[in-house]
Amino acid sequence: MTRAIWFIVKVAILIVVALWLIDRPGTVEIEWRGRIIEMSIGVLLVGILVLMVVAAAVFWLYRNTVRAPKLLAHARRTGRRAKGYRALTNGLVAVAAGDPGAAQRFAKRAGSLLDEPPLTMLLSAQAAQLDGDDQAAARYFRAMLERDETRFLGLRGLITQALRDGDSEEALRLAHQAKDLRGDTKWVLKTCFELEVQRGDWVAAQASLNQAVKERAIDAQQGKHYRAVVLVERSRKAALAGKPRQALSYASEAVSLAPDLIHAVVAEAALLSEAGKGKVAQRHLERAWAKHPHPLLADAHDRLAPPGADALAKVKHRERLIAATSDTPESLIALARAEIAAELWGSARSHLMAAADKRPSRRVYRLLADLELADGDNTSASRDWLAKAEFASPDAAWVCDACGSISMDWQALCGTCGAFDTIDWRVPAVDIHALPASGPLERLSVETDTAPPSAPDGDASPQVTAPRPKANGTNGPKPAETSSAN
Ligand SMILES: [Zn+2]
Repeated sequence: MTRAIWFIVKVAILIVVALWLIDRPGTVEIEWRGRIIEMSIGVLLVGILVLMVVAAAVFWLYRNTVRAPKLLAHARRTGRRAKGYRALTNGLVAVAAGDPGAAQRFAKRAGSLLDEPPLTMLLSAQAAQLDGDDQAAARYFRAMLERDETRFLGLRGLITQALRDGDSEEALRLAHQAKDLRGDTKWVLKTCFELEVQRGDWVAAQASLNQAVKERAIDAQQGKHYRAVVLVERSRKAALAGKPRQALSYASEAVSLAPDLIHAVVAEAALLSEAGKGKVAQRHLERAWAKHPHPLLADAHDRLAPPGADALAKVKHRERLIAATSDTPESLIALARAEIAAELWGSARSHLMAAADKRPSRRVYRLLADLELADGDNTSASRDWLAKAEFASPDAAWVCDACGSISMDWQALCGTCGAFDTIDWRVPAVDIHALPASGPLERLSVETDTAPPSAPDGDASPQVTAPRPKANGTNGPKPAETSSAN
């Protein structure tokens, strides 16, 4: 629009000048070397215009003749770049298509045509990886470390390789370098945290976790639970190192972050009791029982009974634990156990029957069977309860949400798959008692309701493969039995 207006304006100016000249006719006289040339003003102006056009044409011709070699070189360079980028694109397509031969061919071609080491090195490394030539890929990644603009990419490639080779030391060393370069990158922070956790370096893991949560590499809620688990481990270490005050402070923080973390509650209670705060410990256990009843809490509470308390006193002590939730199956079982120890057969039997009414389970029926044997050696009644136990629903156990294996006890890292904070107290999806008793329990893989954890979308981090610690001893009690209080 502006261009059209500008053109009209220029035409108008020309018309105005032409009309002005027509209105004022006249001649021009030029005297040159004794000769007089006479012409009209119009002819003079046309002559000047023609001269200007000729001069411009001559100048254009001269300029292009002088610049021709330069222009030719430029055209050649542009052509090479275009070809190079085409080769690069084709190489990336070949990588995506999983064609190592074509990928390497295009990588070489792109390398010779383009002066873009970051791009061609990455393609070459990917082509080498695709071809299974890890050494060549590592060579390219290491070459990338030499240049500022490719260092981070090179580190990522080397970290992925180290993780795949199970060299977590090297992976962590490189991950720290990547963190120094770009401390706000989500996958770097997550990788550092996961590797430090695998090493049991809880102090470093906690620092990495804080940063990962700050940069939203780890969800805040999840981060809170992770922090509680890390603190339980730090508390254990501090207690072993003879630093009970520090251990207590870590355990208390863990409880406040994750009140459902049974081992945090139990550790805090033990440390409080050691510090002469038995009453506080007892209150904390009772509060925890009301929300998350667990046999280990009953055990811990039992240890806080007054010194020298007899079995009857321990029943009274147990009643305090379950006071707030006295009619739940877990509370009824806990009370019945104390009553069995005190040989209060009648009330133990009625409490177990009430628990069986609410939630029939193997544990309840087995306890009833034991009770019948203890109370008057009633083998026939005992057999009946055992027969019922065979077909009752399974009991809760420590189950890994990542691999489904069952552990004897809770651990921060799964003893089978090495996953962090995945062990939960719940009923396994597969009936562990129905499986052959000969195999090691740790190997019993069960299907879980929850899918195994995966990297969040858009932030795929190099997969940390957890080292697999040796399975625990296999001759311990079955998981369901570890739940037994007393
Ligand atoms: Zn696992």
